[in-house]
Amino acid sequence: MQSKSIETLSTDLHAPLSKHEAYVESDRCYFCHDAPCITACPTGIDIPLFIRQINTDNPHGSAKTIFDENIFGGMCARVCPTETLCEQACVRTTAEDRPVKIGELQRYATDALMKTGMHPYTAASSSGKRVAVIGAGPAGLSCAHRLALNGHAVTVFDALPKPGGLNEYGIAAYKTVDNFAQREVEYILSIGGIDVMYGQSLGKDLSLSSLKQDYDAVFLGVGLGAVNESGLDGADAKGIEDAVEFIARLRQSPESSIQVGRNVIVIGGGMTAIDAAVQSKVLGAENVTVVYRRSQENMNASDFEQALAQTNGVLLKTQMQPKQLHVENGAISALEFDYTHSEGGALSTTGETTTMQCDHLLMAIGQTLAQQVSEFGLTLKSNRIDVDENQRTSDSKIWAGGDCASNGEDLTVAAVQAGKLAAESIHKALAGSNATSR
Ligand SMILES: Cc1cc2nc3c(=O)[nH]c(=O)nc-3n(C[C@H](O)[C@H](O)[C@H](O)COP(=O)(O)OP(=O)(O)OC[C@H]3O[C@@H](n4cnc5c(N)ncnc54)[C@H](O)[C@@H]3O)c2cc1C
Ligand code: SF4
Repeated sequence: MQSKSIETLSTDLHAPLSKHEAYVESDRCYFCHDAPCITACPTGIDIPLFIRQINTDNPHGSAKTIFDENIFGGMCARVCPTETLCEQACVRTTAEDRPVKIGELQRYATDALMKTGMHPYTAASSSGKRVAVIGAGPAGLSCAHRLALNGHAVTVFDALPKPGGLNEYGIAAYKTVDNFAQREVEYILSIGGIDVMYGQSLGKDLSLSSLKQDYDAVFLGVGLGAVNESGLDGADAKGIEDAVEFIARLRQSPESSIQVGRNVIVIGGGMTAIDAAVQSKVLGAENVTVVYRRSQENMNASDFEQALAQTNGVLLKTQMQPKQLHVENGAISALEFDYTHSEGGALSTTGETTTMQCDHLLMAIGQTLAQQVSEFGLTLKSNRIDVDENQRTSDSKIWAGGDCASNGEDLTVAAVQAGKLAAESIHKALAGSNATSR
């Protein structure tokens, strides 16, 4: 096992833009009428407007434009896969040109306002209504903030001791340095009118029926609390762990040293797999290989993430799936793979196999709804909580959004939008159809 100080993980992926760089980059925007980037952003931020505000030396006004649609604009600027969202739609995306750096400009503006500590919103006068929000992740806190803005008293309950959800426990350290996740939560809560209760787990310490009695509405933003099983014999051997738990451990151990194997294999093809692999390499692993069962084009990780892995010395191997674990003295020593072949979406094995040495295996094969959430009695769709276009569940007093909901996209920005939409719908339901939203 190799180990290195966690400090080596805390180097910012992109250095923040200077004032001059932000001005030059903002000058590249054509300020399109009907700008396609606005529709490509799941939260619908008025991107040309905020870029123009940077260009006219008004970064605080620019941040307000961003926060009006996305109160997690600071985190999204750091973690959105912009190359598949807003920047992909930029009209400057041609072979000879490159898109405007929307994410980096968004970070420049939001950092500028957050640094002042000024919160651009105040809670409306009390509506007399109380809403319970379960989960202090991006979906829950986005919902809570919009509800407070409209004057509703909000209590957020979270099972863990810290707020932020996967912003705090999941996103790679190099994307969110300097304790940004906690600073952002403090900033969001500074609107007032939101109480947060930690160590309160729905299904254990709280019941849905009592919340329904005590509050006028309930929002569930509980994410995906369980992981998919590999189904391999010996999966409990030493050296095998879930990639999300590995990353959570890294994020929560600022002073200690984290152990990583010499030959690390990560199974999966999404952002979690790439984050776990890059962090293993930075921590000092000699060989890190991401193994994915389909082709490279099918990987959920974006081209940028894949390139990031490769430039950090991570090997990507595709069309291979785990067949058998080799365990010696209770610890993993090697992993045997089947080669695979895809045809018309169907995956089959070719009959050939290969074996790779491995002393640390990280499984990044997806998360799933926690068992206790699936037992709440709400209608499920593809094992997530079924919601309509307003994020309302099969129970008219309960809304849900983010990763746990049927329209969840496993992206921070999508969770923020779902929380915002749910808050608007709850506000309408509580204040009547003539309700105006701020
Ligand atoms: C390793 C990893 C890396 C990622 N990287 C990126 C990235 O770079 N960019 C990106 O856009 N997305 C990324 N994602 C996805 C993104 O983090 C999620 O889509 C987003 O956090 C979902 O927000 P959420 O609020 O729905 O859920 P979560 O962030 O999971 O928050 C759920 C909250 O609910 C609480 N909770 C759960 N169950 C209960 C209960 N029973 N009672 C009380 N509280 C409960 C949890 O403690 C948690 O605080 C990544 C995900 C992972 C796992
Ligand atoms: S929130 Fe994300 S997708 Fe939307 S404009 Fe900002 S960086 Fe782009």
